[in-house]
Order: sequence, then C-alpha cells, then structure tokens
Amino acid sequence: MFLSDLMLRKTLKQIRLILSTYPRRHLYLLATGFALILCIVFFSRMELDSDSSKESLYNQISIVDLDSEVNTEKSLVFRRVEISNSLYADGLREGLPDSVIMDLVYIFGWDIDFIHDIRPGDSYSLIYEEVFVNGEKKLDGDILIAEFLNQNSTHIAIRYKLSNGTSEYFSPEGRNVKKAFLRSPVKFSYISSKYNLKRKHPILHTIRSHNGVDYAARRGSPVRATGDGTILFAGVKNGCGNEIEIKHSEDYSTRYCHLQKFSTRIKKGKKVEQGQTIGYVGSSGLATGPHLHYEFHVNGKHTDPLRVKFPNAEPINTGDRKEYIEHANNMLSSLKNYQILTNSLASK
Ligand SMILES: [Zn+2]
Repeated sequence: MFLSDLMLRKTLKQIRLILSTYPRRHLYLLATGFALILCIVFFSRMELDSDSSKESLYNQISIVDLDSEVNTEKSLVFRRVEISNSLYADGLREGLPDSVIMDLVYIFGWDIDFIHDIRPGDSYSLIYEEVFVNGEKKLDGDILIAEFLNQNSTHIAIRYKLSNGTSEYFSPEGRNVKKAFLRSPVKFSYISSKYNLKRKHPILHTIRSHNGVDYAARRGSPVRATGDGTILFAGVKNGCGNEIEIKHSEDYSTRYCHLQKFSTRIKKGKKVEQGQTIGYVGSSGLATGPHLHYEFHVNGKHTDPLRVKFPNAEPINTGDRKEYIEHANNMLSSLKNYQILTNSLASK
C-alpha cells in the first residue's frame, strides 16, 4: 500500500514538472494529437463492428481443437455461399480463401461442369480447417465436408483418412467423388478440334473421321495420364508420331499422339497413375502445329472423350467402410447444425 502510494505521488510530481517545463503551445499540440488518435480508433471500431457482424456470427460457430504438444491449433470454419455471379467471386465475397475455392472446384469438378452447369441460385456450404501455429494463422487447411446444390441435385463430399494413410473424398454412401478418368489430358489448353466422323483432314485434305479430340497447347506442355493403368505402347507410329497408349482396364484404353518426347521411365509395361506426366506436347507425325491428339477407347471402339460418361473411381474399401460411414454421419450432422445455426442467426 505504502509503496504504491509513494509511486503515485512520485508520478504526479513528475507530471507537474513536465507540465511546468513544457511551453503551452506544445501541450496544446499534444492534446490535439491525442484527441485525433482517439477519434480514429473510435471510428475504425464502428466500421469494424458493422462489417464484422457476419464475421462474429461465423466465429461463434467455429470450434477450436488444441494440440498442445506442437502448439498447433486447428479451427473449423463454416461458410455458406449463394451463387449470383460465379462460384469464385461469390466465394471470395463470403470470405473464402482462394485455395479453399480451388479445392472445392477440384472435389466437385468430376461431377459438375463449372462453366456450363452453374445457375444463379445454386449454393454450396462447407466446413474447412484453419491451421494456427502459436496463435498465428499458418494456412487454410483441407475441406472436411462440402455440399453443392446444383440445379435440384445435391452433391456431398466428405474427406476421410484411409487406413493406408491417404486421404480421399467420398459421398455419404462411400462412393469415390473422383472418376476413373480426368476430363482433360493437358492442363492449360483449349480444344482445337472435336471428335468428328466426317472431318476433312488438315494435311491430307480428304474426308477422314477424327477419332479423338485435339488439345492445342504450348510445345512442351506436360501430358497427363487421364487414368491409372499400364503402358501398352510407347514409340513411333506413322501419322501419330510419338505415341503412348495406356490400358486402364479390360474395357478402357487411351491414346496420346504427336508428342514431342516421352517422360523418363515411360515404356511398355510400366504402371502409371492418374495425373502422372507421361510425355510432352509436340507436333511429331502428321501435325500442322503443336497439339495433343487424344483418343478414348471403350471395348476397343473409338469413343468421344468429351461425351463418354466416365466410370467412378474405386469406392471406399471394405476394411475402412464401417468406420467411414460413422464418420460421414457425424460430419453430415455437423454440417446440418451449422446450416441451421446460420439460418437462425441470419434471420434474427
Ligand atoms: Zn486429332
């Protein structure tokens, strides 16, 4: 008591000393500056409050799960986005980081064509993780569950860590959200020629059916295996030039033409995975410029890869199934709870 009393008296004495030694003009400036700072703080708080009503709503419903050993916190974030402009723009507007939007596009990209299928009024909601290390946000983590309402159909994907250590997305029933084939074998490309049974050949100038799809891309662009499989052929074949053929199953095979070169280790009999780079875009064989000619064969017959309905990837394995269904039900009810809570908070 005595000590603090003494300190208070000492402080007061010092203030009096400062006041007496400072010229009045300085004191006046000091006071104005202080008032100005107070005003700025006050108004920025006000703006923050009106802006953050939604933010605080979201914060109320985020859960913190603390892993004390590495001081890493994972916080769950829920968002619901109604699409009026685009999946991307509306997602950003609701505060979704773009990495999360990209993940969403990847997850549902197998079922939904985001350029042609989206209608105003479509919506999506999701729960994703935010990772904090020592209280600082380090990254936007994975989407744990996402629901997409697209023109009267509902798509749901739930992330699950399998017993082999990999994580994948499945439907509530355990169907893999992935398809057995990628939509396109070249990432950044445009379709320069479609599947057409009565096309005039650009070099031969005769009517020859075009049994595949041409993807125009920069010379050297990576070409990806569209599905898991085994290399059936990797070599040179007349008009096709440097060619790779992959057998995916008894029923499905794909063919890639005009390659500049093959990836290392690509040879007959080698196993490849979906998305793996197998070669590079070129113009070998009969080609007017660099492009990939891509064919899709079902039961040995040419099929239009843009129209064929791709088979699903493997569903969840039987060993993981029981636990997955339990996990899926928990995640579904979490999502439902968040949706109900948000609706009731928004309507208040
Ligand atoms: Zn072609």
